Amino acid sequence: MSQYAGVSLHLDSLGEAFGYPEGFRDPAYHQVLDRFQALCDKHRIRGSVFVIGKDLEDEANRERLRWLARQGHEIANHSWSHYINLGAMPLEEMRFEVRASHYRIADCVGYEPKGFVAPAWSYSERLMRVLISCGYEYDTSLFPTPLLYGFLFKNALNHLNQPAKLRRVLDRKDWLEGVRGRRDPYVIENSEGELVMVPMPVANGMAVWGTTGFVFGWRRHFQFMRQALAVRTHFNYCIHPADLLGQEDVPAGYTHSLERLSGNWREKMDRMSESFALLVEGAKSVVTLREMAASVQERALRQIAA
Ligand SMILES: [Zn+2]
Repeated sequence: MSQYAGVSLHLDSLGEAFGYPEGFRDPAYHQVLDRFQALCDKHRIRGSVFVIGKDLEDEANRERLRWLARQGHEIANHSWSHYINLGAMPLEEMRFEVRASHYRIADCVGYEPKGFVAPAWSYSERLMRVLISCGYEYDTSLFPTPLLYGFLFKNALNHLNQPAKLRRVLDRKDWLEGVRGRRDPYVIENSEGELVMVPMPVANGMAVWGTTGFVFGWRRHFQFMRQALAVRTHFNYCIHPADLLGQEDVPAGYTHSLERLSGNWREKMDRMSESFALLVEGAKSVVTLREMAASVQERALRQIAA
């Protein structure tokens, strides 16, 4: 049984995917946040929501995020622009991506975010240094299984006709982490400070997050979840807006190539509800990622003291 489980919502907006069209009412901030809140209420969970800073240039999105924060969820940082090669970007650009979003989120919800996840789990040591220098307590960008290569291959296929995006898909510094990345949370230290890395949960080489249900089928997905909850002390369950949205939620006139948006949102809610129930059953406590990271930090301190 896991000691701690948590839910991370990577709030990949449709606005970002569509290039921020004028007057767009973003289903990621409206339908998705309502459904996420309803699921969390039902299972008595508070989650961690990773936000794209640029989305908060929209007043309606800001209001929705403030509302969500008031429900007790942790609001965390998912970069300013959602560049999928964040971990490989030059230092100054990377700093901008972290900081611009950091201050915009703080301005919106009234506290500075302490958790980060890179778009497309684009982990790098340079990014960890930037996060430590910005006072982050944890990061969850590490994808420590060979499934990373399958995920990137699929992502590359999706962008074959968009050369600029394809270059970003392949521009990474973490090619070795799929094989050598550590699978349990650990503390990363340097001369400026430290942060906790909470990797993607893995069991039998299989990473599990919301999307695996769409790729491998839901029966297997629940089986992967049970296996990972049995072997991992910490289980971070990552989901995306597409896990809670149906085709009917996308406003007419927006042609899109977003994946997993076909299908009925009510069925998706049922599956997510089943996943949340498994987390509650399979872990001693379900906490925010920040609380999970704090438990790792305490464990490390106890080990030093012993
Ligand atoms: Zn994302």
